[in-house]
Amino acid sequence: MNILVLNCGSSSLKFQIIETDMDMINSDSDKMLAKGLIERVGSQSLISFQVVGKPSFKSAEPLRDHKIALMYAIKWITNPETEIPGIKDISDIHAIGHRCVHGAERFKKAVKIDNDVIDGIEDCIPLAPLHNPANLKGIYAARDIFGPSVPQVAIFDTAFHSTIPETTYMYAIPYQFYRRFKIRKYGFHGTSHRYIAYRYRILNNLEREQVNIISLHLGNGCSACAIKNGFSLDTSMGLTPLDGLMMGTRCGDIDPSVIEFLAHNEGITIDEVFSVLNKRSGLLGISGLTNDMRDLLEEEKEHKDRRATLAIDMFCNRIRKYIGAYMAAMNGVESICFTGGIGENSPDIRRRAIKGLEWFGIELDDELNNLAVRSKEMLISSENSRIKVYVIPTNEELLLARDTLRVVIDAKRIW
Ligand code: AMP
Repeated sequence: MNILVLNCGSSSLKFQIIETDMDMINSDSDKMLAKGLIERVGSQSLISFQVVGKPSFKSAEPLRDHKIALMYAIKWITNPETEIPGIKDISDIHAIGHRCVHGAERFKKAVKIDNDVIDGIEDCIPLAPLHNPANLKGIYAARDIFGPSVPQVAIFDTAFHSTIPETTYMYAIPYQFYRRFKIRKYGFHGTSHRYIAYRYRILNNLEREQVNIISLHLGNGCSACAIKNGFSLDTSMGLTPLDGLMMGTRCGDIDPSVIEFLAHNEGITIDEVFSVLNKRSGLLGISGLTNDMRDLLEEEKEHKDRRATLAIDMFCNRIRKYIGAYMAAMNGVESICFTGGIGENSPDIRRRAIKGLEWFGIELDDELNNLAVRSKEMLISSENSRIKVYVIPTNEELLLARDTLRVVIDAKRIW
């Protein structure tokens, strides 16, 4: 079954076409056939499409909205000259999987999209005002283009974390605010953490219930997840993706009093404070240079920039704190898994994040750690390390495609 996986942001549209294997549902035989990215939807859009194994197609066109952008992508996908194996026309796309950010307490697993589900995603907009409307644009566009006969599935970033217990997901604020507004920890990057748990299970030939790991998704957005017996026990993002680890431009954990203090003393509105915390903080805020870890490491090396070093050290320190907290919450852990752009590609950050955890018996093999670049899946801890450390490149799209297949054929297993 050929599945179109769609990930729509407020001004972007990302897709992959994945040929899933109906019979071997847990195998590695699913194949990505093509992928694409359209940025700046709504103005002069930047287009980059690629059939696997072929040179990429790049262009710039004014694509007014997500529907026009998707139509443009479909035209390329079905163009005979594009030559995607097995795709001749639109009928060769059998189902569509949408990455949806917030499913709140309503969506605990992937669901087939109907009017009721669309209403539910709309109901979650107050909790994800930037993301859910963009996801809905993708859903509406796909429905208009493909019609009702092609099943569409919504897969939620929050769903994997629906197993987090009440004692962990509640905030210690008056209970009525949970009752009235559903204010609580939800967590994000769920599909990525679930993929890491899945790969870890496959790599070590384990049953799902035997997976006891800390997954560290370190990209532009960062989150940690304590996965106990195969399920999310805790994660660092909260009601929104602002909480937890330090990120490219987001502050992560912060004393809420800072918000009031800034609003008062800087004379800015609450919205402006949140704009600072979301867009001008994290690595960018501390370094004053960039939100890009690769550039920051370069600055540190080339110019010995003190604030670049401070930003990187703060980033690593926060990771260590979460590792320690989750080891306690889980009553022990077998492995720590790094993923995301930084986690998959930076031996330096992994080394600096793990340094100081020797007391717990965690030790990297420097040679292996240095080899784990350009998204290689491998073990990087030393033979003596009591807790193993892995690099596992994430592949959310693959899981989105599998979830879509499972919902469409009504399979019971979720990974
Ligand atoms: P993502 O959001 O997962 O695409 O990750 C983006 C982040 O990964 C950016 O901060 C990049 O600078 C960082 N990144 C990618 N490659 C490297 C690398 N080789 N070393 C350090 N950071 C990297």
